[in-house]
Amino acid sequence: MNIVVCIKQVPDTAEVRINPETGTLIREGVPSIINPFDMHAIEAGLQLREKIGGKVTVLSMGPPQAENALRDALAMGADDAVLLSDRAFAGSDTWATSHVLSKAITKLAADIIICGKQAIDGDTAQVGPEVAEFLNIPHISYIRKIDDISDNSIRVQRLMDEGYDVVESSLPVLLTVVKELNQPRLPSLKGKMAAKKAVIRKWGQADIGADENDIGLKGSPTQVKNIFSPEVRKDRKILEGTPEEQVDALVEELKRLKCL
Ligand SMILES: Cc1cc2nc3c(=O)[nH]c(=O)nc-3n(C[C@H](O)[C@H](O)[C@H](O)COP(=O)(O)OP(=O)(O)OC[C@H]3O[C@@H](n4cnc5c(N)ncnc54)[C@H](O)[C@@H]3O)c2cc1C
Repeated sequence: MNIVVCIKQVPDTAEVRINPETGTLIREGVPSIINPFDMHAIEAGLQLREKIGGKVTVLSMGPPQAENALRDALAMGADDAVLLSDRAFAGSDTWATSHVLSKAITKLAADIIICGKQAIDGDTAQVGPEVAEFLNIPHISYIRKIDDISDNSIRVQRLMDEGYDVVESSLPVLLTVVKELNQPRLPSLKGKMAAKKAVIRKWGQADIGADENDIGLKGSPTQVKNIFSPEVRKDRKILEGTPEEQVDALVEELKRLKCL
């Protein structure tokens, strides 16, 4: 079974600050981590390999330093890693990012592709399903449990607002996973040593055969008009008392504001 796990390197959100003048993230000096949902995707890939055999390849598109995220995934036990890094990819929106990832996944001939539910910085949750669309394969999102897997099908539980769905799909398939799925393992010392020495393949535009019109800024239909931090409003009132008293006070307040 050829399993590809897509991982994104993200800034550690606990450390993120915004430049108030430009409205952009201050990345300097901010530590980077593997997107937390992708840790669960890696763990899922490793558990599937342990169950049915095969190979786990971790794949990331990003700047050269994204190699660190791939090494961390190798330390956890992934077999192989590919970094998609090229100036031509810069400025890619989710569409162009998904296009690049799908080209690489085609080259890797994956049977199962696993993504996190969403990235904690971009937060769109678009990339997984978009990659599946580019590959023209089914996808199942919000996986909380993998019930069964065989050479040509998979049965999973998809988390819903109330309960879960049981969904079965043929392979190849793309899954996006939630934190409830598993507990990511810690890397072993042996894994860390091996990851340090591992050779990480680096692919650019030519290696995946991507058209320049489909990648980077040129291939991105999204146009960002403005980025700003939400205004902090200070006119708040905290209601005190029992829940009943708070409800009465809230109703009075809403009447005063002519909302009721
Ligand atoms: C106009 C525009 C220009 C942009 N320019 C840049 C830029 O120059 N540099 C930049 O870093 N970002 C840029 N971005 C942001 C970039 O497009 C998104 O970060 C990226 O598409 C992923 O979207 P997301 O963070 O919402 O991921 P989500 O869709 O929330 O991620 C879901 C899952 O997809 C997978 N995934 C997502 N991204 C990657 C990745 N890169 N590699 C592997 N797997 C991944 C992971 O498994 C992740 O859990 C730009 C966005 C726009 C709109």
